[in-house]
Amino acid sequence: MAAEYDVLARAGRTGENHEFLLTPGPLTTSKAVKAAMQRDWGSWDQPFIDLTTGICESLSGMAGGGDDFVCVPIQGSGTFAVEAMLGTMVPRNGHCAVLVNGAYGERIVKIFDAMERCCTVLRSPETDAYDVAALEQALIEDSSITHVAAVHCETTSGVLNPLDAIAVTTARHGRSLLVDAMSSFAALPIDVYALPCDGLVSSANKCIQGVPGMGFAILRRSALAATKGNAHSLSLDLHDQWSYMEKSGRWRFTPPTHAAAALAAAIEEHANEGGVGGRGGRYASNHLVLVRGMREIGFETLLADAIQSPIITAFLEPADPRFSFQKFYDLLARRGFVIYPGKLTVAPTFRIGTIGAIEAQDIRGLLEAVKAVLEEMGVRDASPARETTAAQ
Ligand SMILES: *Cc1c(COP(=O)(O)O)cnc(C)c1O
Repeated sequence: MAAEYDVLARAGRTGENHEFLLTPGPLTTSKAVKAAMQRDWGSWDQPFIDLTTGICESLSGMAGGGDDFVCVPIQGSGTFAVEAMLGTMVPRNGHCAVLVNGAYGERIVKIFDAMERCCTVLRSPETDAYDVAALEQALIEDSSITHVAAVHCETTSGVLNPLDAIAVTTARHGRSLLVDAMSSFAALPIDVYALPCDGLVSSANKCIQGVPGMGFAILRRSALAATKGNAHSLSLDLHDQWSYMEKSGRWRFTPPTHAAAALAAAIEEHANEGGVGGRGGRYASNHLVLVRGMREIGFETLLADAIQSPIITAFLEPADPRFSFQKFYDLLARRGFVIYPGKLTVAPTFRIGTIGAIEAQDIRGLLEAVKAVLEEMGVRDASPARETTAAQ
């Protein structure tokens, strides 16, 4: 077996972590990001106002958004940001077509149900990318559809949806596109002008590698300006948050000051890594090492390579009856690697994320641990049951 993976060297990079989080988030963060939370900030003080302004400018810049777009931060987890964008941008009498091929698309449908606003659901199988032709058909047939909501990387399966084609189709039919770019923003290139779209959301604790506590929306200024009174919720009203911030530089209600400070540090690291290209490049190499290594061990991926993102990968569970996910999970966690259960209906799977402050050497460490754990469990063959194999 290869040399023991050096846990202490890892701790040197990420702080006092006992484990790596190979999950869809929250993720492993760097020492510097954690260190940025050592100071308390007054939410009304100029230094925090400047920090917020700097964060918003940087995030908007990452999306290619110039003067026509604004970045509005919002307290809470990523879902709060999704709900805030949809509730603010889609009018009460609007009608949104929602593309769904996994749990995060389903969550958007739930949000529309909770808001009691009209949506049409366009479902594709969890192992396929979105059906752009079906979207086009719906937009042609139903003139009451005003908006389209799409998830860029559906983190449930790891599928990368064809955002460019969705955007072109939506724009060609004169509708407004809103994107959940939670798990892709900052790692995969997204240009709000070029797409085009009217809004996207992400959160601090995904590919930007900050800590949980806040999300943000990047919205077309002209579209946002027309949304006064749309929101179904006071705390999730992005128009109100935006206009208050424009006037005062301050957040409405208590800001997540420490999370914002950590995000500012994370944005600096992102720039030092070479921005979106650098970050995405590291994730792509993490992903390549992972998939190659897992296939060598005998595992199979759920998705075909052509639609697989470098963000998170779903593997089919081995058919060997000695394999138990819970045991596999526990034994890997004991070795310092936290993976993630599957969330799919098509086949038993588990997921391994390749995002966060982790490098190819950490993935190699994981692969060693996977081999050792399978041996400990007595699983000699990692291949899945034949009938569940969907890819390759
Ligand atoms: C992580 C994620 C979210 C938000 O999840 P929270 O648990 O609310 O942070 C939304 N959409 C996608 C695609 C995600 O990956």
